[in-house]
Amino acid sequence: GAWTARIITLFPEAFPGILGLSLTGKALKQGLWNLQTIALREFGMGRHRNVDDTPAGGGAGMVIRADVMDAALREAGRGQPLPVIYMSPRGRPLTQTRARELAAGPGVTLICGRFEGIDQRVLDAHQVEEVSIGDYVLTGGEIAAQVLIDATVRLIPRVLGNHDSLAEESFSIGNRGLLEAPQFTKPALWDGREIPPVLLSGNHAAIAKWRSGEAEGLTKQRRPDLWRAYADKHVDPAKDRQ
Ligand code: SAM
Repeated sequence: GAWTARIITLFPEAFPGILGLSLTGKALKQGLWNLQTIALREFGMGRHRNVDDTPAGGGAGMVIRADVMDAALREAGRGQPLPVIYMSPRGRPLTQTRARELAAGPGVTLICGRFEGIDQRVLDAHQVEEVSIGDYVLTGGEIAAQVLIDATVRLIPRVLGNHDSLAEESFSIGNRGLLEAPQFTKPALWDGREIPPVLLSGNHAAIAKWRSGEAEGLTKQRRPDLWRAYADKHVDPAKDRQ
């Protein structure tokens, strides 16, 4: 079957959301990937279908109950087996490498948290991996899940029309894990600003060399972390010391 995103959420109506538009939406309609939502509310307790309760030890807010989340995870487990990820600010930061790994697999079950988060015991019991989309706190995991799905689905074969765009972009292997060089398009002169002449020269070797230099310069300046990883692999240490 096609790559599957299975989402456990209090807000199934948030999906596909923006993923239903443009390239990811077209790919969804073409069946290149599937979307399944599991409404956490259906597993809630009592007449009001409560999913949360006050935090043990006190403190502000509410926490999603272990038994309720366990029931939703068991429901998710009845389908095709998929890795389970909890979108969480405490998780390992999402990377292009992780998106590539997930795109190569059968899909993913994503847990979207709300409130103060989820009872730790159910995360431990199901050995759930935690993934963050960055060092800031959102109100819920739905947008984070959409970020992960968008980054992953576009790497599934045939989702993007032109495969070359994947090979050369930021973080890609073809771009040696660097940031992408600046892009330009017509008109050649805009607001007194020219396109770098080499890009209009038709000299493909010179263009590749210019882009490579720009990618290196940009990465060195903006992302010392990426630059170090690149320099360890690609830069001659004797030359780099000068
Ligand atoms: N109390 C939690 C903490 O301090 O780590 C934050 C809970 S947050 C208000 C509610 C939900 O939003 C989380 O359970 C998670 O699913 C989602 N979320 C918030 N920030 C996120 C991030 N940076 N990456 C991924 N998911 C996030």
